[in-house]
Amino acid sequence: MLIPLEGFGKTVLNTVHVTDSLAGLVEATLRSGFRLLRFPAELEARFERDTGPARSRSLLVWMIAGMVIYSGFLLSDLLLMPDAFAIALLMRLGLVGPVALAFLVIIARKPPPFVREGSQVLLSALAAAALPVIAASSTDPLSAVAHHGQVLFVIYITMIQRVRFWYALAGVLIMQLIYLVTLAGADGVFRAQISYLMVFAGVATFAVVAAYNLEHEARLTYLMRLRETLRSSELEHISRQDPLTGLGNRRALDDRFAEQAASCKWGDAQQLALLIVDIDHFKAYNDTLGHQAGDVCLKRVAGVIASELRGGSDTAYRFGGEEFLVVLADTERRQALRIAERMRAAIETAAIPHPAILGNGVVTASFGVAATVFNERSDPADLIAMADAALYAAKRDGRNRVWPRPATAASITKRVPGLAVRAS
Ligand code: GH3
Ligand code: MG
Ligand code: MG
Repeated sequence: MLIPLEGFGKTVLNTVHVTDSLAGLVEATLRSGFRLLRFPAELEARFERDTGPARSRSLLVWMIAGMVIYSGFLLSDLLLMPDAFAIALLMRLGLVGPVALAFLVIIARKPPPFVREGSQVLLSALAAAALPVIAASSTDPLSAVAHHGQVLFVIYITMIQRVRFWYALAGVLIMQLIYLVTLAGADGVFRAQISYLMVFAGVATFAVVAAYNLEHEARLTYLMRLRETLRSSELEHISRQDPLTGLGNRRALDDRFAEQAASCKWGDAQQLALLIVDIDHFKAYNDTLGHQAGDVCLKRVAGVIASELRGGSDTAYRFGGEEFLVVLADTERRQALRIAERMRAAIETAAIPHPAILGNGVVTASFGVAATVFNERSDPADLIAMADAALYAAKRDGRNRVWPRPATAASITKRVPGLAVRAS
């Protein structure tokens, strides 16, 4: 995984902050119990983004299955009220069928949730309302019992399509109303009709409760999964971070080079520069001020390095005790030397007092710079060895400096065969 340097400086800290606030929102929502089946806006949008497409797909499948079953009831119409068969054909295949097809097309385009859920309610209400129209056009006495089919739509929208609760509630109320009108308009014994009505109302109540529980459970499962995902990405982030300085650790560096190698496999050779930074006389700093002060100093130097990065895909790592490594993507040697010099000056200008150093008495660092065109034959270890050799030259030359200087670049390259330093 490529970890952008600003990942450990500014931008990724922002990302972590965002992740933290999202994690906090998830926790607060879990605690709240979301009894009204609505998450806070940010989470609701995420929920919709994560689950909406799959939901549309499953709606499509069951709309098609529902239409096949609905059309299959033509057989029941034929047996129950043959004189109304033409009307049944017209209502089921001539009206509800085309409307269902239109909604299929709309759902396939993954519409916003209110269209998606609302369309299911409308379609089922229309399909349910078609039944009394068919029955009313028949003179057969058995047409009076055709109404019981309407209960199927309650089950269909609440448990098969699992229409979101508030839409399902509205849908079931509409269907209850349609059923009431159906019974009122049908010939039948009043006592029996009261009984039918109560059975329908009972099924509707149970179905609405089930719809609530199903959605609550689905939302709970979503939140738990999101919490797990956030936790593991947080752990992933921590496992690649140096705890003292917040820069990337060796593991993050390995990943950075693995990314580079992978991109080379696609023929993407890239100019790559490396800086190794080593704090000067740091042992003396520790010996004089103590290890804890040494840690604070390391943090400050790391902060200066991070703040001098250009962003993008430049990355910085803690390489060892008081050594840091900076990977500069798409950077030629001359530019890398300029960046190193800027960082060196920034560390010096930070003016962290170093009581064991004579002269200006501040903490300084030496820089070894190496650059290459990184291709599929390149070994990061060679590039590191080259920068390391440059660092030792900088130390030998008196510390607090960037190496190589332009005149000595060629000699450093010669020491590490197989690596081409591009003269710039
Ligand atoms: P030079 O200028 O040649 O680099 O000299 P130096 O003293 O910086 O180098 P040396 O390698 O002799 O000493 C490095 C010191 O860094 C030794 C060790 O005490 C210190 N050090 C390494 N890791 C840590 C750390 O995590 N915290 C602190 N406080 N000190 C550390
Ligand atoms: Mg060292
Ligand atoms: Mg040192």
